[in-house]
Amino acid sequence: MDEHYGQYVKPRLAKVLRAIGLDVRYERAQGDYMYYRDASGAERRVLDLLGGYGALLLGHNPPVVLDAARRMLDAGVPVHAQFSLRGKTGELARALNQIVRRDSRSDTDFVVTLANTGAEAIEAAIKHAELERVKKLERLLDAITLNIEHVRDAIRRGVVEIPPDLYESTDMREYVFDVRSFDDLIVALINHNSKEMARRPIFLALEKSFHGKLATSVQLTWNKNFRRAFQSLGLKTRFIAMNDAAALDRIAREEESELFDVGIVDGKVALIRRPWPQYAAFLLEPIQGEGGIHSVDVEFGRAIRAFCNQQDCPLIIDEIQSGMGRTGAFLASSQIGLRGDYYTLSKSLGGGLAKLSALLIRQDRYDTDFGLVHSSTFAEDDFSSGIALAVLEQLERDDGALYRQAAERGNALKRGLESLRDRYPDVIKDIRGRGLFLGLEFHPRDAAYSQILRTTDYADSLGYFIAGYLLRIEGIRIAPTGSSPNVLRFEPSVYLDDDAIARVVDALDRVCRILRAEDTLHLVFP
Ligand code: PMP
Repeated sequence: MDEHYGQYVKPRLAKVLRAIGLDVRYERAQGDYMYYRDASGAERRVLDLLGGYGALLLGHNPPVVLDAARRMLDAGVPVHAQFSLRGKTGELARALNQIVRRDSRSDTDFVVTLANTGAEAIEAAIKHAELERVKKLERLLDAITLNIEHVRDAIRRGVVEIPPDLYESTDMREYVFDVRSFDDLIVALINHNSKEMARRPIFLALEKSFHGKLATSVQLTWNKNFRRAFQSLGLKTRFIAMNDAAALDRIAREEESELFDVGIVDGKVALIRRPWPQYAAFLLEPIQGEGGIHSVDVEFGRAIRAFCNQQDCPLIIDEIQSGMGRTGAFLASSQIGLRGDYYTLSKSLGGGLAKLSALLIRQDRYDTDFGLVHSSTFAEDDFSSGIALAVLEQLERDDGALYRQAAERGNALKRGLESLRDRYPDVIKDIRGRGLFLGLEFHPRDAAYSQILRTTDYADSLGYFIAGYLLRIEGIRIAPTGSSPNVLRFEPSVYLDDDAIARVVDALDRVCRILRAEDTLHLVFP
């Protein structure tokens, strides 16, 4: 049975899992623990720090979520009630709006689009952002057309003066060699505007970002291994280094482009330059998960907000991994005082059981046409919505006790990891992150004496090598971050207790000792 996955699902991945030692089949899971059978048939208990890549803030199969699911199943809640007023979905959207409004200190409500996966919420955000941009552009073009007619009429009636240099603009010569009349000028203007508008919309994202792997969202994901083959499918994305505010000015200068318009200024016909919406969206994870647990700082957040305001470009804050309380607040972005125009949420929203995601858009930006042009058979079902409601109730009860617990448990784990860094500064380069969203970075091993370590460094696989060891020898399930294999990522549940933390620190202490001594035969297991 175990070979079916490798034969029919992911042949290459199954080989990789076998090579690393992660080729186990879990049979059950509860809280922070998962269970599999070893070769002798004995059940092995594993402490799960991978935590469904962030989907398990409440742990595996949390009783409150299972209860909510059972109640709905017993009550025969309709899962498929498309094209009707969906009760629990409405309640969920209202609750999400309230929490995000409060956390982001927003002065307006949000409209919620529900989807099935994280990448799908990102795709919906991209589509809405482009819809917003195209409509803005249409309004601008309508205004320019009206202005042209208005000026043409004024010229015909002789109530406006044509300044002698009006037809001299060198910009216009590029399109019509010899501009001699207002009509020539308009032909040149339309040519110029058409050429500028043929540019593809610009999406901005950070280096090391991860926003999904669907055909469009993957264009905003930094890792070339995921993106390279699909680059010609679309989206012009410019990537900006983390906390590099100067890059924003540079991009604004490099991409500067204006449309031409005409008007009457002081009784004279004038050529007017207008900025136009070139930027479709800025996507941002407040703390990058797959990229190696890197946080946006307060100042960079401010610079991004200012850039987006200046360019009238929606800021999409991707809280798919960082949100839902993981960092000690519902939104990690609220902890740095950064306000988004759109928010995406997923992972723990489904309580470890349902698959769903949500896109929240500020009401004053939301285009009601979007609800007609975007849908999915499986989105908005009352079953997933009911589960998400149970999750939100859990997070919000006792005045947000679980947010505080996430911060406190995260600090306890972080202190343990920092004590390791203090003891092994030659092995551990950095401990970073917030709440239950932490990263431990190992120093590169390219200069190691041990050939095994040099090879893992060369193959970018040190974190995977260690993950295999931790699973098989220490009974701990953990994975490196997607794009930085030297960084182990910790995303346990809020219920991680002190004993589990001590166990993690002890196990990693042994790993550090092995790495320090380059005693890599200890990393080898059958
Ligand atoms: N955005 C972020 C920040 C993520 O971490 C992820 C998943 N790791 C996604 C988007 C994509 O979510 P999914 O895997 O559900 O498509």
